[in-house]
Amino acid sequence: MRSNIRRALCCVLAAVTTVGLVACDKKASDEDQSPTAPTPVQTSFPAERLVPPPGVTELDYRHFIAGLFLGTGPEAGPQPKAAIEPEDDLKLLWGDTPLANESWRQMLGWAQDSHVKVLVSSALTPKQRTAVSQTLDQVRAIAEGAGFQFAISETGAAVTPPNVGELMVVPSAADVTRLCGTNAIGCAQMNLSAAGVIERASVFIYPNAPMDVITHEIGHAVLGLRHVQAVSGLPVPIMLFRSQNSDRLLTALEQEAVRQVYRRGLRGGADRGDFMAKNLIVR
Ligand SMILES: [Zn+2]
Repeated sequence: MRSNIRRALCCVLAAVTTVGLVACDKKASDEDQSPTAPTPVQTSFPAERLVPPPGVTELDYRHFIAGLFLGTGPEAGPQPKAAIEPEDDLKLLWGDTPLANESWRQMLGWAQDSHVKVLVSSALTPKQRTAVSQTLDQVRAIAEGAGFQFAISETGAAVTPPNVGELMVVPSAADVTRLCGTNAIGCAQMNLSAAGVIERASVFIYPNAPMDVITHEIGHAVLGLRHVQAVSGLPVPIMLFRSQNSDRLLTALEQEAVRQVYRRGLRGGADRGDFMAKNLIVR
């Protein structure tokens, strides 16, 4: 595999109505266990058992985690075509090379202890700026053990590709139209330094995009989250393909799913086998 593969994933929220709704480890080695060996001591990770939060069955929870991090299974939402067919991604890139197909099946995320410089356009509204800071606070709280740090600073409205270690948040109708796809009101682009590891990212939104669009796109750009379906009886997830035109942050179910993945030590580049080894998804 290439040592320096990069790709942008465009995850889109597309407007569909006039009311502004939008679519777009290491486990203990068996060889350590002689017949007389004591029961292996648990690692620093919590028990392997996966306990679903209230209101969701264990099976649905596993499906939800697979959908949210790997984009697979019955809880996976619609994924942008460009993200599934890397050849089509080329037009979305800043001159980079797309990942191999199977990389789409990996968890995406920033490297352990990433210090991300967040460049927020001065053209954002105060409410949108609040959405950025609140979402990053939430991400820091739920990505347990990741050691992420975010330093937010304001930048001009000009759109330029971010440098390594930067996340840009840019309100630009023209760029959304050009980069995010028909009917979109926002999208996120991530460039990867290795399979699944985000090294820089941009979020493009419509100037009037509601707060949940910003949270959604940061979900893509920082946590590498995919689109998911709503679980019956629970609040509509922020990572649903369509915005609810709200100021909500990631829902309790999304937060708990992120916590379980991160506290088990999974990071960008983890694959389906890793998720199974951590007892997170259905085999
Ligand atoms: Zn999206």
